[in-house]
Formats: sequence, structure tokens, C-alpha cells
Amino acid sequence: LSKDLESLRGEPCITLDGHRLPLWVNTGLMADVTRSLEQGAEGVGLYRTEVPFLLRERFPSEEEQRQIYRNQLEAFAPRPVTMRTLDIGGDKALPYFPIEEDNPFLGWRGIRVTLDHPEIFLAQVRAMLKANAGLGNLRIMLPMICNIPEVDEALDLIHRSHREIVQEGVDAEMPLIGVMVEVPSAVYQARALAKRVDFLSVGSNDLTQYLLAVDRNNARVADLYHALHPAVLQALVQVADAAHAEGKNVGICGELAGDPEGAVLLLAMGYDVLSMNATSLPKVKKALRNVNLAEAKDLLREVLQMEDAAAIHNRLQLFLASHG
Ligand code: PEP
Ligand code: MG
Repeated sequence: LSKDLESLRGEPCITLDGHRLPLWVNTGLMADVTRSLEQGAEGVGLYRTEVPFLLRERFPSEEEQRQIYRNQLEAFAPRPVTMRTLDIGGDKALPYFPIEEDNPFLGWRGIRVTLDHPEIFLAQVRAMLKANAGLGNLRIMLPMICNIPEVDEALDLIHRSHREIVQEGVDAEMPLIGVMVEVPSAVYQARALAKRVDFLSVGSNDLTQYLLAVDRNNARVADLYHALHPAVLQALVQVADAAHAEGKNVGICGELAGDPEGAVLLLAMGYDVLSMNATSLPKVKKALRNVNLAEAKDLLREVLQMEDAAAIHNRLQLFLASHG
């Protein structure tokens, strides 16, 4: 890390005209926690709970999960930790729970698996709620939501777990609950989603893949995978506006948040929090500390008129080169 990035470690992420934008981190391994705390992360926007599941030979028990989640929550307390319920399927298969499909990214993944196996979902949520006792910094987030009934069903299960645990004598608070917006249908239903939960969080990696019909892991079509595609940017604006119209917070936890070009636009769109890999945090902070929110909004207006991702990328490069 260069000296000038290092000196920013204890500084807030604040624009030249005084707008604060909290920078959070994405975690999975315990090693990410150490790195994140070193970088001065203000919270965790995405804890990928499938990571500890991938490191085992069988499903971890509720008690094993409670300990794993407790470690995450304790390490960051009182800062918020957003735990995503199990997001397997797609490119993430558990060796002890094989899923064979022709189109895994359009198949049984994320919330679809755990609503079909409520015992997996309930054990996970119970473990999270127990881990949160006495701390209170847990947030729970639902992956791959594509319709409203999925949210209602998941909320029912979470409330049920909470009631059970309280009856068992645990002093468990209800955490904030959020939905990931990473399927195009969720963009169009963002207001209805925001009505039901406490926050939205855009998963721009999957949202880009699904909006553009480009496999995020296929090298042959990698040059078509553009998170700055005008359609993706329109979707991002729409989600932020929908969340705010319902008075709810909106964040983003895809790779776009960790790219200074994306971060400047997300700032201008009014995103309340950007969550990224710890290694991206210093460069995003540095970039945002060198811009004015008012200027970023002008830039966004200009970029939203543009019709091609490559031209948008060039414009953003030019903007950043003249600010920093
Ligand atoms: C995303 O889809 O943008 C996201 C953050 O989740 P993941 O990369 O784990 O699918
Ligand atoms: Mg995703």
C-alpha cells in the first residue's frame, strides 16, 4: 500500500463538499476480518455465509454456525454485520450437497434452495439470532430474490425462528432484514420489496450477468460483461430511487462498488453505503475524498445520456484523472 493510501486509514470517506458515504466490506474467511479492520471498515455489507459451509465436509450444525457467526459479529461490534443466508448453487456447489443442472445460474440457487429446505434456513437463522444476543449488530440479507412471495415466506421463517428462540429464553432482538437486488425482476419490483424490508442491497455482479445475459465466469464472453453498461446504470438509479421513495436504505455489495469509476456514480445516485473487498477500500476512499457530490451528480447526468459502456468508461477515467 502506498504511503498516501496508508495515511487515509483512520480518515472518514467524505467528499470535498462534506457528504459522508460509509464504506463497508465483503467478508467470508476470518482472514478478511483482520484485513477489513486494518482498513478501517465501518461495517460488513456482505458476509458470504457459504464460505464456512464450503470449508467443511458436511453441513455445520446450528451450534457450530452460532460460533462462526459470533466470531464475525464480535470482531466488528458495534459496527453492523450483514449476513447473507446461504447462497449455494450457480457456481458455488457444496461437495456434500451436489446440484446437477444444465443451467445452474438459472436453476436452483440462493433463496430457492433454502426455501425448499426450510430446515437449512431455520438452523442458519436461529444460529445468527443466537449469535447476536447481547451484541445487536446483526443484519440478515436474502439472496437471489425474484418475486414477492419468496420474501414473505422468508420473513415468516425468520419471525418464527425469533419467536422460538425467545421462548427458549435467549434475549434475541429482531435484526434488520434486507433483500438483495440481483435479478432483473427485483429491479422492477424494488418498491414492493422495499416496503417489506428494512434495506435493499444491489448485487451488481449477478445483476449485470442477468441483465446482459452474460455468464460472469465465461472468458469467451467476458468482453460483453460491462457493469457500466447503460442498462445496468439505469437499473441502479431505479433501485436507489425506489428504496428512498419508501424511506429505506439502499446499498451495493457487488464489485462495482470497489471500482472508483463505479463508486463515483453510486455516490451521485444516492447510495447510502458501498460494500467492497477490503483491498479496494483505500483506493475508493481516496477517489471519493477528491470529488464534490455536486460535480459527481453533473457527471452522472452526462453519463446517463451516453449509449455505450466503453464511452462511459473513458469519460469516467478522464474525470478521475482530473480529480486526484
Ligand atoms: C453479487 O451478485 O453482486 C454479489 C455481491 O453476490 P455474489 O458475488 O456472492 O453472487
Ligand atoms: Mg450474487
